[in-house]
Amino acid sequence: MGVADADIDLPEAWDRSRGTGTLVAVLDTGVDYRHADLADNIWVNQAEIPGNGLDDDGNGYVDDVHGYDFAYNDGDPMDRHGHGTHVAGTIAAAADNGTGVAGVAPEAQIMALKFLDDSGTGSLFDAIQALDYAVMMGAQLSNNSWGGGQYHSALAEALALAADAGHLAVAAAGNTGTDIDSDPHYPASYSSEALISVAASDDSDRLAGFSNYGLSGVDVVAPGEAIYSTLPGDSYGSRSGTSMAAPHVTGIAALLLAADPQLQPEEIRDLLIESSDPVAALAARSASGGRVNAAAALEAARQGRPRRTHH
Ligand code: CA
Ligand code: CA
Repeated sequence: MGVADADIDLPEAWDRSRGTGTLVAVLDTGVDYRHADLADNIWVNQAEIPGNGLDDDGNGYVDDVHGYDFAYNDGDPMDRHGHGTHVAGTIAAAADNGTGVAGVAPEAQIMALKFLDDSGTGSLFDAIQALDYAVMMGAQLSNNSWGGGQYHSALAEALALAADAGHLAVAAAGNTGTDIDSDPHYPASYSSEALISVAASDDSDRLAGFSNYGLSGVDVVAPGEAIYSTLPGDSYGSRSGTSMAAPHVTGIAALLLAADPQLQPEEIRDLLIESSDPVAALAARSASGGRVNAAAALEAARQGRPRRTHH
């Protein structure tokens, strides 16, 4: 069992917000959009007629009804790997439906942007296409539980354009147990005001052994060890990683946006940092010095936007 309150205070948060209507892009291996715990919260592109081989809404993508598959270049972002479905469930699995799990923002909407193939590998080019799509179609948030490779100006530019559009990207800090202040991990290490990088804690509020960290390069810490969530084919299972921590933060950001749609990406980042529960074992592991708390973030937002901080 974990330490009491080594969690993110969701029941209290849900009194204020359930993320209703906030559109969240999941850039990953796809999403099982038929999963019983996800189907009601999957985005539908109403202007697109499914399966007719035409780009009905003229956005450049054929049959993109729930998102798009950039890995295989078709309109079907079904997950045949599992990672993306697990991430999506942590963000927005339905609550109170008598089955499975509840996501952090159980009334948010998931846009499935598959750019990692069925073995979990993808290209930077496809990631950029997916991010551009998310922004074009109005997603306020994206979850980026992926990483690797070097700094690339094309992705930095895509993130800058996303920021200009008011889009907040949440990125996993990575799983090699290293300090990303000295050994950067992309995309988490891009220095955008509209990007939040997330490390993982365990259920005793310690940094998970695998988690990367960084006093300036990591913004916040969220639970990421033995996280139970949805898997393809109406199943469930536990996974560990900063990939599982990031969607907790994306979910809280969705709660904040539903409560106050005017919040800007950097304001959300500052709210999440400043409202984190201080934890001694997590001091100096991120800018926050603690672990995120959904209820505290919503309370901080209600009291007024924080003074801007720089790091
Ligand atoms: Ca289309
Ligand atoms: Ca169509």
